Amino acid sequence: MINVAGMTDQTVAVLGLGRSGLSAARALRAGGAQPLCWDDNPAARQNAESEGLKCADLYRPGAFDGVARLIVSPGIPHLYPAPNPVVDAAMRAGVPVDNDIGLFFQSFATPAWNRFDVAPRVIAVTGSNGKSTTSALIHHILTSAGRSAQLAGNIGRGVLDLDPAEDGGVVVLELSSYQTDLARALTPDIAVFTNLSPDHLDRHAGLGGYFAAKRRLFAEGGPDRAIIGVDEPEGLFLAGQLSESPADDRVIRVSVARKLSGPGWQVFARKGFLSEFRKGKQTASIDLRQVSALPGAHNHQNACAAYAACRALGLAPRVIETAMHSYPGLPHRSQIIADAGGVVYVNDSKATNVDSAAKALSAFKRVRWICGGLQKEGGLDGLRAATGAVARAYVIGREAAGFALQLDVDAEICTTMAQAVERAMADAQPGETVLLAPAAASFDQYDNFEQRGEDFTTQVLARLNG
Ligand code: ADP
Repeated sequence: MINVAGMTDQTVAVLGLGRSGLSAARALRAGGAQPLCWDDNPAARQNAESEGLKCADLYRPGAFDGVARLIVSPGIPHLYPAPNPVVDAAMRAGVPVDNDIGLFFQSFATPAWNRFDVAPRVIAVTGSNGKSTTSALIHHILTSAGRSAQLAGNIGRGVLDLDPAEDGGVVVLELSSYQTDLARALTPDIAVFTNLSPDHLDRHAGLGGYFAAKRRLFAEGGPDRAIIGVDEPEGLFLAGQLSESPADDRVIRVSVARKLSGPGWQVFARKGFLSEFRKGKQTASIDLRQVSALPGAHNHQNACAAYAACRALGLAPRVIETAMHSYPGLPHRSQIIADAGGVVYVNDSKATNVDSAAKALSAFKRVRWICGGLQKEGGLDGLRAATGAVARAYVIGREAAGFALQLDVDAEICTTMAQAVERAMADAQPGETVLLAPAAASFDQYDNFEQRGEDFTTQVLARLNG
């Protein structure tokens, strides 16, 4: 655990007692603060009280008298579409609002570091898609290379559940826009921006607000190195804004759309080959086509970003390449679950938005595509350019008929996963891929995308083995 520093004897309100809220309350207590917790769900409060954490109704008048700060969980709106009433009350009382990420950055460095040979470092990864993959890949490369590394944030452990840093240790944090928007301290040593596409627009009042939330990761603390995907205008703009000159190698530009040139530091992938250029000279090349857990251009973007982060930490290109080959992949992201009768079955349940599903579709030659679910704002037009490889779509979800109508491919309304899997398997020919890439959230039929991916996997394996 990271003990929260700088809040001894202060009362800190904690709203939301899920994973991050509970760990914030514990870390505050361990640091000598007095957490005052609340969750609208009585069971969550009871759970917190059972470990001695004090709960108090934060909706009551005067609840913020004497409170130094409010810590808010990422699922609770702090500004858009409207601030949660408790957050609103805190703001009206002049109480600063923060989250576990802010507490982490304020507390990570300790006097023990004075004895270290190499100061611990934090790599923070944000972006619309590819955050988990890039973070897990960086962590895998570092540990494979014998470096001490911990993974946290949206993936793995809560940030305040991490172990205190070791000499030379690296913390890899995956951060969502909700987290970067709210954290008061945000000071990574290396910050990564994978890409930007519309998502969570209701929580940020549109794309501009969404970009602004992510941009804070680069603007607040000024990381030593910024690794920026420049295939969208926002990334290109950010890279330019952070650079003092074209040769400024504090910014490493990443692309999977074009060959980057210039005197700076660049990592790009084309036709399956990663290239690194620095000061106008090529410094390395890696054949990513051989890295089986990272198929498709979107994963090559993640590979480039992870490569750049590890290079920024001083790892040699060959060490990174070797480690990439042993990367096991993450469940529900381009996860190959079976290869039978010449048909490959891929679970990409995490493709919850249009851009990620389009990228997943582009990674395969001929696809039996299982899609649908709770549609997000912005429509499905973004899928059009990516459906060339689709032999047929098998649409799931409560609104399957409406979803299917918006697709420009031959589509069958299946509604349930069982039906979709059965129909896709019956149609699939050798050489084709049966791909779950929903382009929608799962909440109309499942608790979360993991449950949806597990359903797909179970249905496929039962039929293959049955
Ligand atoms: P995040 O943590 O940002 O949601 P993940 O690594 O979990 O990212 O990947 C989420 C989904 O996005 C995957 O299912 C995959 O289809 C897609 N994806 C992965 N990397 C990228 C990328 N670089 N660009 C676009 N889509 C991606």
